[in-house]
Amino acid sequence: MSSPRTSAPARRPARRANDLRHLTPEQLRRRRMRERQRRRRRRRRRILLVLFVIAMLAAAWGITLAIEHWTGAPSSQSQSAPAPTAPPASQSAPPSSRPQSESTDVPASADPLLLLANKDNPLPAGYAPDLAYLEGGSYQMQSEAAAAFDRMKNAANATGLHLMACSAYRSVERQTELFNAEIQKWMGQGMDEAAAREQAATVVMVPGCSEHNTGLAVDVGSITNQRVEEDFENEPEFAWLQEHAAEYGFILRYPADKVEVTGVTYEPWHYRYVGVENAQKIKESGLCLEEYLAQSHTEKREDP
Ligand SMILES: [Zn+2]
Repeated sequence: MSSPRTSAPARRPARRANDLRHLTPEQLRRRRMRERQRRRRRRRRRILLVLFVIAMLAAAWGITLAIEHWTGAPSSQSQSAPAPTAPPASQSAPPSSRPQSESTDVPASADPLLLLANKDNPLPAGYAPDLAYLEGGSYQMQSEAAAAFDRMKNAANATGLHLMACSAYRSVERQTELFNAEIQKWMGQGMDEAAAREQAATVVMVPGCSEHNTGLAVDVGSITNQRVEEDFENEPEFAWLQEHAAEYGFILRYPADKVEVTGVTYEPWHYRYVGVENAQKIKESGLCLEEYLAQSHTEKREDP
């Protein structure tokens, strides 16, 4: 048995043909004109729809390009990675969140005090500085740097300040532990190992690439501020270091205006021992260590 609904389409053309038979030529002409207009309107709607789709695709492409421009990374990469949460600040954490660096491919210096450790220049395998404890016995540095730090600290504190070390030498093994813990943290949030490793490297220096592995770096704080955060620049101890650190052979290693070169965010607490002569030259030149090394290499080559 068929329902009335299924038989309806079959009846409709018959009724229509029946209607047309009763139309006058004038009515037929008008009807055809209306149908032509309807077809024209449908064509126009289809063209508008195609134009709209093209416009949407162009807009999506434009947004993708803009995202790549702003983030400096292909947007497909940032979309596939889970949104990173800010890592907790830690006193033991090495140079944090490293932005894209322009170029830190710098020739090595013969001067051991100008030893370069950064993400492009890991320390040689088996590197082991001769270490000495800082006064107070909590941290170690390369022996010459340790003595220089104690002199600097005592000079500052003789003026009524309270300069102190918050972190200094870290072995490559310890750096490896920190780095692996960071990888585990990101894998725990669902990243695969390769992605977690890449993410960890933006927070913790790859083992052998941290200045703290050299024994020549020290994180400095004051009695009221041992957070190793940017607000250390407001402390009188920071102002004193700006003026006097070079006299003791130390430089501010990651200045705010050299982030593009060092690949490390501004760290007003992180000082690097390079010896008095180098420190004073670097301070006068306004260069960072990478630039200073590149410049001395060029100057040497140009010597007759
Ligand atoms: Zn540091």
